[in-house]
Amino acid sequence: MEKKGLLLVVSGFSGAGKGTLMKELLDHYDNYALSVSATTRAPREGELYGREYFFLKREEFLRLIEEDALYEYAEYAGNYYGTPRQYVDEKLAEGLDVILEIEVQGAEKIKKQFPDTVLIFVTPPSADELKRRLVGRGTETAEKIDKRLKRAVEEAKYMPFYDYILVNDDLAESTVRLHDIISSEHAVSARNRDFILQITDELKIVTNEKGE
Ligand code: ADP
Ligand code: 5GP
Repeated sequence: MEKKGLLLVVSGFSGAGKGTLMKELLDHYDNYALSVSATTRAPREGELYGREYFFLKREEFLRLIEEDALYEYAEYAGNYYGTPRQYVDEKLAEGLDVILEIEVQGAEKIKKQFPDTVLIFVTPPSADELKRRLVGRGTETAEKIDKRLKRAVEEAKYMPFYDYILVNDDLAESTVRLHDIISSEHAVSARNRDFILQITDELKIVTNEKGE
């Protein structure tokens, strides 16, 4: 079966639980690499440079754009966010499934460059629950929460463009479902052309050996 790494995009409303879900997935399975983005946003409490993001000054970020070091970038709620090329290339070459946790415009750009990318949209079960999670996280001011909720209305328009909608209700269940979705994608026949050819050849040899 397919051993090459898949490129996966996980998007979703701010507060949907993407970060939490990614952490669970990486804690439970070892075939994933999570791309670390560059951003001009300030670190939240507990966030570390190089772990959650590469936190950069605006000039530093603009330099990355100039150097063509990013696969994509977008502006979100007043800050730049972008995907550095190098890590993605390295991890895919190692055979790992690489996850980009990025917003909808970035997802569209990645899908154009890599049509094989699997797009997964994470959402809470309801808008009320989204607001509860954003408020409960306690990392943004009321004004910023409002901005992110308004942005969610725009992001919802992109949902039909995604391959999968993952309703993040129970965290443990959602983690397993996410892993199952990705495993199923590996089994898609179009991704296994080499294996189909290989076993076809093997069958010919085996049947010839028996003189049939
Ligand atoms: P995102 O990365 O999508 O912005 P976070 O992972 O920061 O969202 O989650 C937002 C808040 O919701 C956090 O306080 C987190 O603990 C909580 N949360 C995440 N997933 C769930 C879930 N399945 N059920 C309840 N709360 C959740
Ligand atoms: P946050 O500030 O909550 O960490 O992220 C805000 C939004 O930026 C989220 O929707 C997140 O998925 C998105 N994001 C994070 N990194 C990138 C990136 O490299 N590119 C793009 N386009 N979006 C990103």
